[in-house]
Amino acid sequence: MGKTILVTGGGGFLGSHLCQKLVESGHDVICLDNFFTGRKKNVRHLLGHKGFELIRHDVTIPIYLEVNEIYNLACPASPVHYQHDPIQTTKTSVHGAINMLGLAKRLRVPILQASTSEVYGDPLVHPQTEDYWGHVNPIGPRSCYDEGKRCAETLFMDYHRQLNLVIKIIRIFNTYGPNMHPNDGRVVSNFIIQALQNMDITIYGNGEQTRSFCYVDDLIQGIIRMMNSPASVTGPINLGNPHEFKIVELAELILKLTNSSSKIIFKPLPEDDPKRRRPNIELARKELDWSPTTDLEAGVLKTIEYFDEELSTGGFSGADGVKPGGSPTGL
Ligand code: NAD
Ligand code: UDP
Repeated sequence: MGKTILVTGGGGFLGSHLCQKLVESGHDVICLDNFFTGRKKNVRHLLGHKGFELIRHDVTIPIYLEVNEIYNLACPASPVHYQHDPIQTTKTSVHGAINMLGLAKRLRVPILQASTSEVYGDPLVHPQTEDYWGHVNPIGPRSCYDEGKRCAETLFMDYHRQLNLVIKIIRIFNTYGPNMHPNDGRVVSNFIIQALQNMDITIYGNGEQTRSFCYVDDLIQGIIRMMNSPASVTGPINLGNPHEFKIVELAELILKLTNSSSKIIFKPLPEDDPKRRRPNIELARKELDWSPTTDLEAGVLKTIEYFDEELSTGGFSGADGVKPGGSPTGL
């Protein structure tokens, strides 16, 4: 039987795919979003659907709803966006978690937290396993996000231990795909938009730093499996693609796939930028029988198609073209 499911951050990149999948599976979905970085466009096609409802609301403010499950995704995820208003970023993670956990406690329903590989900071253990406590700067420009998410994990575990709440924590590693905001500022969207417009490809640092990129469809499957896992499976569980690439390799792949005449240029590396990142996903394999199946080239091709369409429909092109990494504009 269909459930009523709350998805906070449902108008964003991952949230919109999650809403879509849950509606397709016959559930009633309440999408809650303040549209700080999300876009109505991501969920507009769902608006007429009888199983879909949209609420503009900020998770830092309590809300009273009746639902059977909660996915808590609300939080800007791109470094450019979460550093735009760092105080609000911490509030969103911490007050947002408290409000959503309070709702889950009143209703006695399972709640899932979208945590992040950033809880490992600039990791000294590689690849990252869930039992690694991380190497995080508590006072740097990324701390609003990293420490906010770490505190949210603490709250989730304490609501579980103290109040017996069914909680699920997933640590998401770099995920990409359609519905990313063109001004998002993250590396995959930046490089594709630059390549499609024959603008310079901006590598920060020397490009030797690594990330492991997961295609959105794989990730959404993992998130839903986590929610539907037995109550004893609380996580944290890493979800991501374990294939690791240098940022320069990503730039070269995108140049090749877009057939672009863009040049690669090098810019200063942002402070506290992690040098290496790759998930160990053995726990997800064991507990959720989950592993990603989309390789980088296939996923990037689908993402290129999406951004090509975004650019050609003109929604974001000004005289200078789309500027990757601008201020949040989903307002
Ligand atoms: P996104 O920025 O596209 O989506 C976040 C959504 O949350 C947006 O729709 C935004 O408007 C909304 N939001 C922000 N603050 C809010 C608030 N105070 N109240 C209500 N809504 C608010 O980012 P995303 O990539 O879809 O990320 C979704 C979640 O997954 C985030 O919690 C993020 O930390 C986590 N995550 C994502 C990645 C990734 O690679 N995409 C990696 C690690 C973790
Ligand atoms: N990066 C880059 N050029 C860009 C955007 C990002 O070289 O235009 C680098 C960034 O410095 C980091 C990596 O790509 O080393 C991934 O950055 P992103 O912002 O996507 O996410 P992060 O994993 O750092 O949270």
